Amino acid sequence: MLQNELHTSILSESFSDVIGQDRAKYDIKSAILANRNILIVGPAGVGKTTLARNIARLLPPLTVIKGCVFHCTPEKKVCPECSKRKDTVEIPGRERFIRVQGSPDLTVEDLIGDIDPVKALQFGPLSMEAFTPGKIFQANNGVLFFDELNRCPEKLQNALLQVLQERKATIGSHQVDLEADFLFIATMNPEDTNTERLSDVLIDRFDVITMGYPETDAVEKEILVRYGQKMAAVPDNLVSLMVHFIRLLRDAKDVERKPSVRATLGLYERSQANALLKKKKKVDIDDFRDAVFSVLAHRITLRPALRYTQSPEEFIEKEFQTMLKTGMGREFKEKKGDVP
Ligand SMILES: [Zn+2]
Repeated sequence: MLQNELHTSILSESFSDVIGQDRAKYDIKSAILANRNILIVGPAGVGKTTLARNIARLLPPLTVIKGCVFHCTPEKKVCPECSKRKDTVEIPGRERFIRVQGSPDLTVEDLIGDIDPVKALQFGPLSMEAFTPGKIFQANNGVLFFDELNRCPEKLQNALLQVLQERKATIGSHQVDLEADFLFIATMNPEDTNTERLSDVLIDRFDVITMGYPETDAVEKEILVRYGQKMAAVPDNLVSLMVHFIRLLRDAKDVERKPSVRATLGLYERSQANALLKKKKKVDIDDFRDAVFSVLAHRITLRPALRYTQSPEEFIEKEFQTMLKTGMGREFKEKKGDVP
């Protein structure tokens, strides 16, 4: 079993690519040890994909049939083409990771497969020759990472449910056995509004692991310093102020859609780019200020009562000025007016 290959390595894994999120890391390890399907719930940019990729990296190399995208092994062939193939090749653990992007356009045929009606007549509907395997088979012997599961149409959710429940799928009028073995990790963003509700029976097939925004200012700062581009020097207290500003907006009761960690990274990088444009080696408060609208205005949504009286830009400007008058913001003085 696939999970058995992970048992030893998962015990000592620290998932150091993801900063913070200790609870989620702990829960993920526990869920893998217990051989569960995993649903990671959390906002964009908190490291859901990174965490799942890290799990695939823990898988040992695997000997598969050469040229097979479905990672058939010599012992177990799941795709039509491999019946006559013999050559093998070794693939590293990180290649045993398949990402499926959930979307309203994703069909059962894309995901699970399709039956060729002509070949079905010739070879029989359940024959390997008549069946074109879908994306799910590419995850065979690896990790199937299903991003934004709740964006999928209900029909696809039902097909997935059948796969998870019975390891079978219904395509057209045919029932297909799913021989593929994979670890199923899905994600969902609860703040995403244009989505389908996941049915209770589908949710029941998963253990849910929750990831939130970075726990503290310090954690979010560390993310910037480790993952942000470096173009100009950003004084430590200014990095703190950027993080503080984002977290202020996230906590504001008037902000309904909150700025992600990508927004914080955006501020960090665009402030540096602004300094560079002004031929400065060091970022100051004006460079930060000049980045806020372009990075933030489209990333937040105000609550309905405010939406008609205030634009996101006005809200951001007001919050920025308040920040400069209070707490750590008082260390900084804007010069203004130096944008060409
Ligand atoms: Zn194959």
